[in-house]
Amino acid sequence: MRSHADRLDLIPPYLFAELERKVAAKRAAGIDVISLGIGDPDRPTPALVVDAMQEAVSEPGTHQYPSNRGREDFRRAVAEFYDRRFDVQLDPETEVMPVIGAKECIFNLNLAFLNPGDVALAADPGYPVYTGGPLLAGGEPVLMPLLPERHFTPDLGAIPADKRAKAKLLFVNYPNNPTGAVVRPGFFQELVEFADGSDTLVVHDNAYSETTFDGYVAPSFLATPGAAEVGVEVFSLSKGYNMTGWRCGAIVGNAEAIAAYWKLKTNIDSGLFEAVQLAAVAALSPDADDEKREMNAHYQRRRDLVCEALRHIGVEVTPPRGTIYIWAPVPDGFASAAEYCDHVLEEAAVVISPGGAYGPNGEGFFRISLTTPDDRLSEAVDRLGRLRR
Ligand SMILES: *Cc1c(COP(=O)(O)O)cnc(C)c1O
Repeated sequence: MRSHADRLDLIPPYLFAELERKVAAKRAAGIDVISLGIGDPDRPTPALVVDAMQEAVSEPGTHQYPSNRGREDFRRAVAEFYDRRFDVQLDPETEVMPVIGAKECIFNLNLAFLNPGDVALAADPGYPVYTGGPLLAGGEPVLMPLLPERHFTPDLGAIPADKRAKAKLLFVNYPNNPTGAVVRPGFFQELVEFADGSDTLVVHDNAYSETTFDGYVAPSFLATPGAAEVGVEVFSLSKGYNMTGWRCGAIVGNAEAIAAYWKLKTNIDSGLFEAVQLAAVAALSPDADDEKREMNAHYQRRRDLVCEALRHIGVEVTPPRGTIYIWAPVPDGFASAAEYCDHVLEEAAVVISPGGAYGPNGEGFFRISLTTPDDRLSEAVDRLGRLRR
């Protein structure tokens, strides 16, 4: 048996492995387990996007290698969307590039920007690639705590000076997974001031700007004056357009950073399938706006259902104004989030995610995903309500 590279040992063991094993055992024993764990939209991709894909895929011109730079019409569609949606003006030639999902881009930015020993500042709790990416690239992830009393935005002043001096990347994400928080007013400006004149590239992971409630409209980081000088934004179509399986997004903003990412990518992959780029053009058009509104109304109803059920069992939560997640404090009497999630699985056959899986500052919380069909979500909520009154 050949031994794998040392770098694989740097990655912590998959935190959901034990949970998945327990769920599989229960299902094998005939128990009806409902998962509210994973954040993967249950509803289909909008028909206009599927139609555009079907048309594009029957066009032989889309069958060859795409270029890493992306189709001109794709880049133009992203720029038009950013203008219409965020009032952000992008040069489609130099400030837009397709990505094979935000995950690919976030990981590869680590390879493009970190030398051995360099630091990547990562939101904690946060998307696991903010720490796994730096580790695999030979860098050091340094955690920035997201605390409820600071509206789940990091205290940039608390970052140790030696780490700050070595920081080449900084990862944040609003509306936020897993906390459901929206950006605190003024924070993006603080971020620009923090990075201005430094060697730190800000990476705003924009996976949820299109999934918001109660009339809240999420801004782009790039709408902040000076943002394009210090950072990039990674926009994903996965969550907002029910397109997780399509692997489609765009990196926008700082042209030099995008050029570095492009140089790396020409050695790693061969770009985003052109038919998917054409489907994205349809998704980003105003024609998809009604569908997005409907999806958000749907999630908002689910959100209210879950928040009400949690209140019933004595768990107080602030209903989130964005994302597909409810982030809630673990009730008293449990030593850890993992222990509570275990209890919920054993007693109610409902899967929820322990906050500690997203970083040390996620401990004490659990996450519920709203991406389960209504009838199953209602059933799960009933079970939670019977759990402990
Ligand atoms: C889901 C998610 C991603 C991954 O997006 P893809 O475009 O599907 O790769 C990235 N960041 C956050 C915060 C997410 O929740």
